[in-house]
Amino acid sequence: MRVAQLGSGTPEVAVVAGVHGDEPCGVRAIERLLEERPTVERPVKLVVANEEALERRVRFLDEDLNRAFPGDPDAQTHEKRLAHRLTEELADCLTFSMHSTQSHGDPFAIVNGVSATARDLVPQLPVTAMVETSEFAEGRLFSEIETIEVECGLQGSETAAQNADRLTRAFLTAVGVLPGDTMRRELPVYRLTDVIEKQTADSYEVFVENFTEVEAGETFAAADGDEQIAQEAFYPVLMSPYGYRDVFGYAAEKVEVLPSQTAAD
Ligand SMILES: [Zn+2]
Repeated sequence: MRVAQLGSGTPEVAVVAGVHGDEPCGVRAIERLLEERPTVERPVKLVVANEEALERRVRFLDEDLNRAFPGDPDAQTHEKRLAHRLTEELADCLTFSMHSTQSHGDPFAIVNGVSATARDLVPQLPVTAMVETSEFAEGRLFSEIETIEVECGLQGSETAAQNADRLTRAFLTAVGVLPGDTMRRELPVYRLTDVIEKQTADSYEVFVENFTEVEAGETFAAADGDEQIAQEAFYPVLMSPYGYRDVFGYAAEKVEVLPSQTAAD
């Protein structure tokens, strides 16, 4: 784990990259900030989390770090020990954590719950949706630390790295670390309702678009040609043929659309 800081004093805000070692986009955003060293109006902590996995370009060494929180200093696995250190490092910080996916190119945010902070900050980020994980948060960073996660784009793509940079700057502006104003976007909010399991097979297919409603009776995926048909309507989220080992992704419901302006404007 690498920890750096911009500005003096004790940071109440943190930016985290590299929770997954095969998602380098956020690391580039942090490195760029460290090279440019912009003048900040309040201090911010910058953390590159799983350096060992990043070096090997793998998601993790022993287990998924974003399922290992709160962690344990005496654990057998690298990620459980790291989860504990990361929890201590971020204890007093509102945290912004960057990921990338195999499922969807447009950036979107993931939160544990739609808190007042999430309602205020997330519409100021260049994202197309906010996803609330509700009961699917176990072991994730935001089960321990107040965190806004963002999916910056497709894993390893140049676009994801550029998005990570734009997202970080928008977040740092929204929380008053960087000077300036942000734009507030109209933002749909989704809540995860189910995991979409996938059976063991040699080849997988997904036939639907993330965040586009799948109707009851629609064929949405296949495992070795065995078609999966929706029992009821849902919105697919984080769904891809090979993004996860045991699941295609998640089913979600659309809960609300946050307006682009608040009443106070
Ligand atoms: Zn990730």
